[in-house]
Amino acid sequence: MRVVEDFASVRSLARGVVGLVPTMGFLHEGHLSLIGAAAADTDTVVVSVFVNPLQFGEASDLSSYPRDLDRDVALAESAGADVVVAPGVEEMFPVAPETVVSVGSVAAPMEGLHRPGHFDGVATIVAKLFAGVGPDRAYFGRKDAQQLAVVRTMVRDLSFPIDVVGRPIVREHDGLALSSRNVRLSDADRLKAVTLSQGLMAGADLFESGDASVDEIIGAVRRRVSADVSVEYVEIAGSETAAPASDLGGEQFLAIAGRIGDVRLIDNVTLDNGTRTVDRGTRLDGPSILYEGGS
Ligand code: AMP
Repeated sequence: MRVVEDFASVRSLARGVVGLVPTMGFLHEGHLSLIGAAAADTDTVVVSVFVNPLQFGEASDLSSYPRDLDRDVALAESAGADVVVAPGVEEMFPVAPETVVSVGSVAAPMEGLHRPGHFDGVATIVAKLFAGVGPDRAYFGRKDAQQLAVVRTMVRDLSFPIDVVGRPIVREHDGLALSSRNVRLSDADRLKAVTLSQGLMAGADLFESGDASVDEIIGAVRRRVSADVSVEYVEIAGSETAAPASDLGGEQFLAIAGRIGDVRLIDNVTLDNGTRTVDRGTRLDGPSILYEGGS
């Protein structure tokens, strides 16, 4: 496996069908499942590690974001990566950019409302990664369901010749969705954080049990979440449009965002109204690699 800092080096190493897994590093089993999926169906797996300053609203969230490139390189290699590209901010932005990729209505609600400018930052960086790496396929987690919808919309509108692959959420053994930010939770806050996923599972159970309405499902989620979590939103939204819905129909996701202290977490489950089943993701059997090394 090779570790490089610039896109020209990536392109010189790429051969055959190229799969890209964009990440912000501090890898966990969710990222590794994307890398494994890419390794299974492409010839060259490129993992990008870049903590994107454009997508952080709060300076403290950016500065406290966990980073460990040596750890990421070892994990990416073990999961099947061929190239890790870890560009510095100077490589990504040699001059202050004049161009922003801004996706419309799909980026407006939920994360867009609560993190103004966030999706402009995401779309701009993903477009740069697509242009710089030139992948045939790009792998994203449904953990960020709205982000996946934003990326799909951008790929359609800007005619990127890239197949976007969405993959299931990987959860810790107790159900908490894996996130690099989980390492910032104290033991007490982690117990509160897990109620985000417990709320979603209560909503999922109600959805599967029959004819609950959107409002009833959202109510069941909210009731199950710890009062110590500051919930920003609970919504059911269309998987393609990310538009919050007042009725069930088609493929939707039940999404939640909340803050536990200064750690903001998101989670969701996918609702299939055709079969009335829920994709809740997968769970690890034991502790995540996030906590190895005593952090
Ligand atoms: P991040 O490093 O948080 O920007 O995430 C990089 C990619 O990994 C994104 O496509 C995320 O949706 C995906 N990802 C993050 N956490 C998970 C998870 N728990 N399960 C599946 N995919 C995930």
